[in-house]
Amino acid sequence: MRNIVLFGPPGAGKGTQSELIVKAFNLIHLSTGDLLRSEIKDQTQLGLEAKSLMDAGKLVPDNVVIGMIRNKIEANKNAAGFIFDGFPRTPEQAQALDTLLEEHNEAISAMISMEVEDAELIARLLERGKLSGRVDDQNEEVIGNRLSVYKEQTEVVKDFYLKQNKTKTVNGLGTIEEVFGRIKALISQA
Ligand code: ADP
Repeated sequence: MRNIVLFGPPGAGKGTQSELIVKAFNLIHLSTGDLLRSEIKDQTQLGLEAKSLMDAGKLVPDNVVIGMIRNKIEANKNAAGFIFDGFPRTPEQAQALDTLLEEHNEAISAMISMEVEDAELIARLLERGKLSGRVDDQNEEVIGNRLSVYKEQTEVVKDFYLKQNKTKTVNGLGTIEEVFGRIKALISQA
C-alpha cells in the first residue's frame, strides 16, 4: 500500500489536493473533517457531541477520530492505499495510526506538509466560508482559534514523522496545478 499523510494548517488546500491525488494514484481519501461533518448531517450522537467543538475551532477527542479512522481502514483492506487528510492532528493520533497500520503489516509511506503563511490562510478560509456555508469558516475569531490549535497541538506532528524520516515539505502557494505538480513528484518517490 501507499499511505500518505497530507498535512498542513486549515486552509492549506489539503482537501483540494486530495481530490487530485486520489485520481492520480487510486488511493482512498480519509478526511476526519468530512467524516465528522457527515456525522453531524446524519444527526448521530457522535455528530452532536463533535459539533460544538468544531464550531468553536477546537479539536474533537482523539479517541473519536481514531475510532472513525480504524473503521475506515478495516472496511478497505484491499485498497491500493490511503490519503489521510486532517488526521493525525496530535502525536497521540499519529502513534495510534502507526499502531493501526502495523496491525495490517502496513506503514505510512510519506508525510507531505503543505506550507502556507497565516495571512493567506485567513483570506482563503474567509472566502471558502462565503461559498461553502461552513460555520467555522465564517468567523475570524474561530479561524484564529483553529490556527492557534494548529500551532499549539498539531504542528509537533511534523517532528513525529521527521524522526521516521518521512516528513517532506511543499510550498502551498501557486495555482492548484502547480501545487499538485510538487506533491505528485513527492508521492511518486514514496
Ligand atoms: P480544516 O483543516 O479546514 O480546519 P477540517 O475539515 O480538517 O478543516 O476540520 C474541521 C474541524 O473538525 C476541526 O477544526 C476539528 O474541530 C475537527 N477535526 C477534524 N479532524 C480532526 C482530528 N484529526 N482531530 C480532532 N479534531 C478534528
